[in-house]
Amino acid sequence: MSAKIIDGKAFAAGVRGRVASHVARLKADHGITPGLAVVLVGEDPASEVYVRSKGKSTVEAGMNSYEHKLDADTSEATLLALIDALNKDPAVNGILVQLPLPKHLDADLVINAIDPAKDVDGFHISNVGLLGTGQKSMVPCTPLGCLMMLRDHHGSLSGLDAVVVGRSNIVGKPMAQLLLGDSCTVTIAHSRTKDLAEVCRRADILVAAVGRPEMIPGDWVKPGATVIDVGINRIERDGKTKLVGDVHYASCAEVAGAITPVPGGVGPMTIACLLANTLTAACRANGLPEPEGLTA
Ligand code: NDP
Repeated sequence: MSAKIIDGKAFAAGVRGRVASHVARLKADHGITPGLAVVLVGEDPASEVYVRSKGKSTVEAGMNSYEHKLDADTSEATLLALIDALNKDPAVNGILVQLPLPKHLDADLVINAIDPAKDVDGFHISNVGLLGTGQKSMVPCTPLGCLMMLRDHHGSLSGLDAVVVGRSNIVGKPMAQLLLGDSCTVTIAHSRTKDLAEVCRRADILVAAVGRPEMIPGDWVKPGATVIDVGINRIERDGKTKLVGDVHYASCAEVAGAITPVPGGVGPMTIACLLANTLTAACRANGLPEPEGLTA
């Protein structure tokens, strides 16, 4: 194996440490403690795990965590009333509604009811528009984490050929916008792309956000390229459950210059960036300078 392994776990620990130090300074110098409200509707076990872990990380970073658990049959009006109250609460700097929502709730309507300045997931239509037009916004956490690791590895990304496989609103599209913002030449590939292998082979930076286990083999990777594997897929192998990414790690690591593993790559950066976004939102809300290196 020749690729450098980009250790997302260690990188995320560094980001969380920087967030925690900045939060400590905010408290000491300005008496401000940033607060993150997480709203969970229903009892999806995976969502409950995510919400618990987000709450724990928020407290570890020195911030206030507010968890709101609502019954699965909560009406849209009740949920919107809660969001309205959180929008108006000065102690709350970030609001995250855990997705997916139960089917009777309109996720777009709910997300767009969040104050864009508190939309730490970066999914509000205003933030999508601001990112798309290169303006200051709240940036979705997973692509922000990928960007931080890429900047750390490459320094400047300017002029590099980037291929993003996947065009979802939460990963693929914002990832492409961020890379464009850093002056990459960006291609977005998806399920209708002709000759995906050839497209991938052009990439200096290859971001896989597909949701298909080990779909990208090593011979689709340009020698020396940086491979960012966003995929998290649970598979059965040799009678055991295993997490794998969207790239075939062993063969890609033979060819790539650098690669993120799964687990331990992009995954840990997502929560770290949620904390970073909450801190950024608190700084902006109080007219204070934003933390350096923790935003796009
Ligand atoms: P979506 O299902 O929303 O999007 C998948 C994208 O992949 C679509 O644009 C789809 O194309 C494209 N695609 C599907 N099959 C192919 C194919 N055969 N060839 C090329 N493109 C294909 O997924 P998400 O973006 O939400 O997530 C992607 C992966 O990232 C998942 O494994 C998810 O678990 C993981 N993830 C990880 C996070 C983390 O913290 N590390 C956070 C969020 C997601 P089309 O649009 O044409 O259908």
